[in-house]
Amino acid sequence: MPELEVIIGLEVHAQMSTNTKMFCGCDNDAFGKEPNTTVCPICMGHPGTLPVPNKDAIEKAIRMSLALQCTVHTDSHFDRKHYFYPDLPSGFQISQYDFPIATGGIVEYEIPDVLSSESLESLHRCKIHRLHMENDAGKLMHVGKKTLCDYNRAGTPLMEIVTEPDLRSADDAVAFAEELRRILIAVNASDADMYKGMMRFDASISLREKGSEKLNPRSEIKNLNSFKALSSALEYEENRLRKLWKETGGPLKGDSTVGWLDTQNFQMTQVLRDKESADEYRYFPEPDIPPLVLDESWIENMRAELPLLPRMMKKKYHSLGLTTAEAQLLIDEPSYRVLYDAVYEKTNDAKRSSSIVLTQLKGFLTAHNKPVAHGPSIDQILELVALMQDGKLSVNATKEVLEEMVETGKNAGDIVTSRDLTHISDERIITELVKKAIDANPKAIESFRAGKEAALGAIVGWVMKESKGSADPAKVSLILRKQLEN
Ligand code: ZN
Ligand code: MN
Repeated sequence: MPELEVIIGLEVHAQMSTNTKMFCGCDNDAFGKEPNTTVCPICMGHPGTLPVPNKDAIEKAIRMSLALQCTVHTDSHFDRKHYFYPDLPSGFQISQYDFPIATGGIVEYEIPDVLSSESLESLHRCKIHRLHMENDAGKLMHVGKKTLCDYNRAGTPLMEIVTEPDLRSADDAVAFAEELRRILIAVNASDADMYKGMMRFDASISLREKGSEKLNPRSEIKNLNSFKALSSALEYEENRLRKLWKETGGPLKGDSTVGWLDTQNFQMTQVLRDKESADEYRYFPEPDIPPLVLDESWIENMRAELPLLPRMMKKKYHSLGLTTAEAQLLIDEPSYRVLYDAVYEKTNDAKRSSSIVLTQLKGFLTAHNKPVAHGPSIDQILELVALMQDGKLSVNATKEVLEEMVETGKNAGDIVTSRDLTHISDERIITELVKKAIDANPKAIESFRAGKEAALGAIVGWVMKESKGSADPAKVSLILRKQLEN
């Protein structure tokens, strides 16, 4: 048996987060809505209706293409892709075939090293073959012998991202797909919510002898809608192809299409059909939509306004001294990132900001079962940070106030006033005041050292006056004695 190499390529469908559908004005958010209520004659494919491309969807496709370092083409067009299935009301999908909006990009990503306790990660690259726009089909539900059709999703804008066969294992494919998801969210192209099926994968896998450059016939696993399914299906299919190679002495004889069966009792792939070829779809240019001609300056404006992408963001947070886990959390949870960035800007202290936002705030929100949106606002957090910076709150008191803010929604200032938390109990602050007092009262110190115990009272009094009565006298006296004994 020769040493075999696994070759994987992905086709990723991502629903775009537009308000309306790809070619009509219907609501693009069907989540939780009654079946067949967000439809119109256009997305139902009635004869005589005219599709109008959604500018917002085109913009999102361009932003994603730029983030993937693709070439965005100023000239592209839509095509009809025909197939007959009850989830497709018009009998064809409007897609882009020979002239897609973008081609030739690359994604750099890291595969986390699970075996190492340190965050050693190696950089991988996967080339992007093309990105094109199309509309989604409806959903079918099989109930007993009947099939129910819900066309709410029909017409939702999709972008299809096709990779080169650059991936080499199931883990590699998942790490790439996770980075792609982060980029989709970063450029606001898709909400990429896996639970709502907003990101779906078709994965092609084949084997070849190591060292060979040849691409053998592949098995395409259709419609995987989670990272877990992507990983399990690829692992299963790799083993199946390895067994077949052993039995037949070589790769598959032709391309095939398989489905992934994931039931309680077993998981397996199942051959659906030989792979259809492009001519079976009878592609031809969509006659009802003029060619898409884009203004170069429109594209360049979008390029200039691209946000910081996840990998660059990770580098930035690493350079501030945050751990990989902290950096990843900030990248994956934009609502925490906004808070973190604001606190860091004010404190210029990466670790302190991480402690306040990622440890304390996140901990309190989790404990009180609240989403970030229902927690303190940026302004409220910054007010708390200001109180801490002015020395009005000790580290511990800051934490206590933050918890009450999460619980009650009140402002830090109001909590401090009502609870009299300005009471200085922080050792660091008292020690500073005591040092000042020692410098400012040489005579009292001299008498104390000469044996006059009462002189201590005068110095404690000075500290109390300096702290406007907010220091704890017992603590002041304790710290003072310690200082004088040194
Ligand atoms: Zn519609
Ligand atoms: Mn497609």
